[in-house]
Amino acid sequence: MRTPESSRLKPRVVRTLGLLVGLLLLGFVWITYLLANRSVQESFEQSTLQSVASETTLLEEQVLRSLNLTATILVTLGEITNALMISPEILTTQELRHVIANTQVIRSVSLVNANGVVVTSSNPANLGQTVDIPELINDETSLALRVNGVYFGQTLPHRDINDWSRNQTSPTQQMMPAVYPLERDGELLTWVATVNVAYFHNVWERIGHSPAVEIAVFNYDGVKLIAHHEQPIESDIYTKIAQAASVSDLGHFELTTDDNYLVVYRTNVQSPLVVASIADMTTLGLPTRKTQRFLLLMSLLATALTSIVFVTLYLLYLRQIRATNFSDRLLTGLTSHIMMIESDLEGVIGSVNPLVTDVTGYRADELIGMNMRIFNSGFESHAFFEQMWTSIAEGQIWRGTLRNKTKSGEILWLNTTIIPFNDEWGQLERYVTLYSDITDAIVLSREYEREKGIRRRLEALNNQLKSEATSDPLTGLANRRRLDDFLLGIRQQADLSGTSLSVLLMDLDHFKQVNDRWGHAAGDEVLREMTKLWSQLIRSSDLLVRIGGEEFALLLPRTSKDQAKQVAEKLRTHTSATAIHVAGANEPIRQTISIGIAFSKDIEKESIDELLARADKALYRAKRGGRDQTIVLDSNH
Ligand code: GH3
Ligand code: MG
Ligand code: MG
Repeated sequence: MRTPESSRLKPRVVRTLGLLVGLLLLGFVWITYLLANRSVQESFEQSTLQSVASETTLLEEQVLRSLNLTATILVTLGEITNALMISPEILTTQELRHVIANTQVIRSVSLVNANGVVVTSSNPANLGQTVDIPELINDETSLALRVNGVYFGQTLPHRDINDWSRNQTSPTQQMMPAVYPLERDGELLTWVATVNVAYFHNVWERIGHSPAVEIAVFNYDGVKLIAHHEQPIESDIYTKIAQAASVSDLGHFELTTDDNYLVVYRTNVQSPLVVASIADMTTLGLPTRKTQRFLLLMSLLATALTSIVFVTLYLLYLRQIRATNFSDRLLTGLTSHIMMIESDLEGVIGSVNPLVTDVTGYRADELIGMNMRIFNSGFESHAFFEQMWTSIAEGQIWRGTLRNKTKSGEILWLNTTIIPFNDEWGQLERYVTLYSDITDAIVLSREYEREKGIRRRLEALNNQLKSEATSDPLTGLANRRRLDDFLLGIRQQADLSGTSLSVLLMDLDHFKQVNDRWGHAAGDEVLREMTKLWSQLIRSSDLLVRIGGEEFALLLPRTSKDQAKQVAEKLRTHTSATAIHVAGANEPIRQTISIGIAFSKDIEKESIDELLARADKALYRAKRGGRDQTIVLDSNH
């Protein structure tokens, strides 16, 4: 019928499992983040390296091609010089200009004789200048390299040889000397070319590299010759590169990462220069860092979401556990008093609680699989069951009382609730029937009803007896016994100043004669009529009592002597003025009364018997005084 508590997962187990799954998920999230972050970083570095390397290669090729071109021209000029049987000076400025015309990279070519004097040159300004060749290429210290037998010196801050020999530096123009010595007829001749370093600048411009990448050309001493940027990125980075770029690793790409800079450089055995690209990774990495920040944000978000989802699920689970525990307890408590039967839509029993077997006498296995009809006592009508089935088939809870029979045929009165249950799709699935055995209660209540009937009859009898005891059967007036109750009542209502009471004692005059003349029945009739008349003349708070025979007492609470006298006179005059018609009397009967009045200011101080005795005295006087009159007697009389 329900999952036993023991087979459910304990909250601690769920918490541990949840924590594990949550941690696994978070681990997954963060490992994914770390991998993605690294991959982004790596691909950034890789692509930067590739693009920077290819730019560097392009530049390097240009530089090398220029140097090769320079070397080839110098070597060719040398061969021409050797081939000419006449003086080489016959190569005119014009002709030399023609030779270098389209190279762009060579500023000038000049021929220096053994005395170090320029004998012919494409630049007339160089003619006649003295050139110390070893000094020009700085042979002692430099790592001046040879390309096809041509020596290249360091880049110098001069425009051309003439500037150099006159020691005239140029702030904007630089040259790199290239020399090709040759011997002709025992005479040492040297062809000197000045390489236009600015040409490389143009090449860099053409490569169109990223502004965050600086391409620099410098020599092996770490002296920067040309840099693309006006302002160098970091001055000592070139020295570092120069130190690293030893001749031993010539011809290789190298990558060094100096904090924020990616440096790609290349050295070449044929080149007197080091070409390097320095990428500003901080600037280049901006979009990558944006991606990385986004990844971090996503991971944090996933962490927060995962945590929220898990904590919420756990709290919901705890709430569910609490609710289930509560309903389990409740059900256990209830089913110790209430029978519970679960059945399908046809009424076939699926399960019963122990109380069902206790009360009906069937074993559980005798009931399961049977139809609910097994309990049918035959006492309930067909219409009764039809109404019940219609109601529950509509999904409504049915309540009612019905009679079932036990295995031994005993009849049970059952307070019944049938609850239809839906499945998770809202389709009616089964019924749970709750019975509470009210047989004993019904029996008891029937006995109680019977007892109640008897008691009611007794009460009525008692009341009758009581009223008969306290009232006069002839007139219906109160009798002497009621007097005490009445007095008790007024005593209870007495205030601090006490309660005054007037007592009138009334006696019909010569009543014996009525009896004598018209008979006893007529006398009775007169008595009834008289009391009827008086009852109309008094207040409801007054009490008229038949003391005996044709003698009456009238008790007037909170009534002064004078008021009492007025009442007495009213009664007396009304009596004498009234003619009474009685069956059996052929003329109306007229009666008078004599009244004796006694007054007490405080009934606590005087007994009713004393008062009545006094009133009797007064009445006696009224009789003696001639009847049909009222006499008042004070307490001191
Ligand atoms: P008085 O009081 O004026 O002196 O004269 P009386 O005739 O009334 O004298 P008394 O009081 O002695 O007589 C009372 C008579 O009342 C006696 C009795 O026959 C009659 N009587 C008493 N009780 C009843 C009663 O219940 N029914 C009838 N019909 N007569 C009664
Ligand atoms: Mg009398
Ligand atoms: Mg009388």
